[in-house]
Amino acid sequence: MIEIQHLHHRYPDGTLALKGIDLTISDGEFLLICGPNGSGKTTLIRLITGLYKPTSGSIHVNGFNTLHHSKEVCGLMGMVFQDPDSQIVGETVREDIAFGPENLGLPLKEISNRVDWALRVMGLEPLSEKPCYLLSGGEKRRLTIAGVLAMRPQVILFDEPFSFLDYSGIQEVLRHMIQLHREGHTLIVTTHDVEKVAPHVDRIAILHNGELKLIGPPEDLLIRLPQFGIRPPCYTLLGGKKISWLE
Ligand code: ADP
Repeated sequence: MIEIQHLHHRYPDGTLALKGIDLTISDGEFLLICGPNGSGKTTLIRLITGLYKPTSGSIHVNGFNTLHHSKEVCGLMGMVFQDPDSQIVGETVREDIAFGPENLGLPLKEISNRVDWALRVMGLEPLSEKPCYLLSGGEKRRLTIAGVLAMRPQVILFDEPFSFLDYSGIQEVLRHMIQLHREGHTLIVTTHDVEKVAPHVDRIAILHNGELKLIGPPEDLLIRLPQFGIRPPCYTLLGGKKISWLE
């Protein structure tokens, strides 16, 4: 469980990016954090992973305070960044996936098992020896997810996971997210592009100007998105039943 209390974050230049966030995320929940550009989404998820330190307030992950137990929190979290190129460090697909488990100091056999498993789960086996710079946008995104999975995190955070992807790339990533949710992972996704993921999430949190304005199930909240400068899914605008991008 993730418990966020009275969270404030101020950047060194004085920008107050988050203003008193209170939020509890249950184990196994699929949460969408949405908000217009600059509303604080990226800041919030970087705080949750322990990448940033809160200015005030606290975040506890499974009881560990991110401020004092960054190592324990790190071991529970995996983050898929918006720009895959900023996350890919290995020369080949296999080397890149191995990077995280190697840093955990795992035995070679365990590293190799985890890499094989992540390659299989993400459908990357045929590409295992391919240089990363030759991959398509969708393949790069799958590679970054595979790298995160190889660390075996309980919580997986996706920052704008659909950017740079075409229709089939979006569907692929979405399928993997749904599968990870089914397997019991906690998923936290940030996007301003609500339509692609909303039909599949448990709850939506709306951020605006660094404040958590509303949180609840999609059925209750989607209709209210425009008042916070966020475009609702077409099916909401048309008053119809939800439609997945996988249909
Ligand atoms: P979002 O992810 O919703 O687009 P961000 O969390 O990136 O929002 O940004 C929230 C606010 O913090 C914005 O006003 C942004 O300009 C500001 N901000 C983000 N990163 C920095 C930084 N490194 N230094 C100063 N201000 C920042």
